[in-house]
Amino acid sequence: MIRVTVWNEFYHEKTEESVRAVYPEGIHTVIAEFLGRQEDITVRTATLDQPECGLPPEVLAQTDVLIWWGHARHWEVPEEVARRVQEAVLCGMGFIALHSAHHSKPFRYLMGTTCNLSWREDGDMERVWVVAPDHPIAQGIDRYFDLPHEETYAEAFDIPEPDKLVFIGWYEGGEVFRSGCCWRRGRGKIFYFQPGHETFPIYRDSRVQRVITNAVRWAEPETRVPEVPCPNVQKPVLKFDEQ
Ligand code: ZN
Repeated sequence: MIRVTVWNEFYHEKTEESVRAVYPEGIHTVIAEFLGRQEDITVRTATLDQPECGLPPEVLAQTDVLIWWGHARHWEVPEEVARRVQEAVLCGMGFIALHSAHHSKPFRYLMGTTCNLSWREDGDMERVWVVAPDHPIAQGIDRYFDLPHEETYAEAFDIPEPDKLVFIGWYEGGEVFRSGCCWRRGRGKIFYFQPGHETFPIYRDSRVQRVITNAVRWAEPETRVPEVPCPNVQKPVLKFDEQ
């Protein structure tokens, strides 16, 4: 079984009527429900208002893939928790950053760049193009799929060059955006997926659910270590006669 933890800031669902109307149960609950229907996936959720953001070391140790959704309160995630997530990825945990999680602390620490982008909120249609049809994350997705309304995210996106680009988003205003990007950091796999603005029912879309489910299976750790070693080995590999 792949053990997934879905982390959500879970703030605007409780404070903004336009968000509550779409996700009364919280974005994390919707994602956990569709992933939980898979026979090979078990899910738990965690939110910002829990002690240690719901991510104490023992939870991360039992998490194969961590999914992250945040928007307005990135900076309330304590440094210790953000660095703990970064370290877990370097040791092998998979990490999926959704939509506005491009500015989350763990994602920025893993990327090492600002992760800034251009954006506007006009509810444009987005066409999500598959640019790597053979990639595991694109399986079951046609050449493209349309989302009737989405927040526009546009280039330039200040990220390191992805190891693999899987999706490009095009908006009816003419913008394009690298909407599905893969990286490796240490032993961990990272996927950024752009769709998911909180005022549109993006995570109820079957194509989006398929992509996230595929990404969980792709990001499952190949190897996982408690920590990355940095030993002083003292002796050379080759022995030399003493002079
Ligand atoms: Zn948004």
